[in-house]
Amino acid sequence: MNTGRPLLYLDVDGPLNPYAAKPERRPEGYTTHRMKPEGWLAQHPGLPPSRVRPLRVWLNPSHGQSLLKLTDRYDMVWATTWRNEANTFIAPVLGLPPLPFVDWPTTLTPGPNGTFWKTRHLVNHAGGRPFVWLDDELDDNDREFVAGHHEGPALLHWVDPRVGLRERDFEAVADFARTL
Ligand SMILES: [Mg+2]
Repeated sequence: MNTGRPLLYLDVDGPLNPYAAKPERRPEGYTTHRMKPEGWLAQHPGLPPSRVRPLRVWLNPSHGQSLLKLTDRYDMVWATTWRNEANTFIAPVLGLPPLPFVDWPTTLTPGPNGTFWKTRHLVNHAGGRPFVWLDDELDDNDREFVAGHHEGPALLHWVDPRVGLRERDFEAVADFARTL
């Protein structure tokens, strides 16, 4: 088993951007941002970027402080369809330094046995290192897959996309590091 520092895989939409909250009810502590990342522009083929309506993103600057505290124990990695653009658009708002990111294949195909498309790629990326994964789209199929295909300990922690990351989520991440 690889004994490297644990990894913290961080999704953007859901944990950091609670996109599933009611549009007129921005959760407390969040600020509104309008962004045109490449991934968003790509969803509007045929329109020049200036004509594309920006994506509305809610972000909570306090998340940056909570995540930075965890970097004592974890190596943080973006695990999001924003890929490297999380460093351009998300990290500065949260006060995070540029982070490494998982470079998914360009075509996103569902995983085996009902697993989320990210799961097998994260197992590959982790290469046996312990990891926590914060995401709003993982479930028990993914936990089962990781248990069967990943050598080290792992915590797959679901975050509610209606509210985003909360104190209890950061506590769960810190607690996991203590068990290693
Ligand atoms: Mg998500």
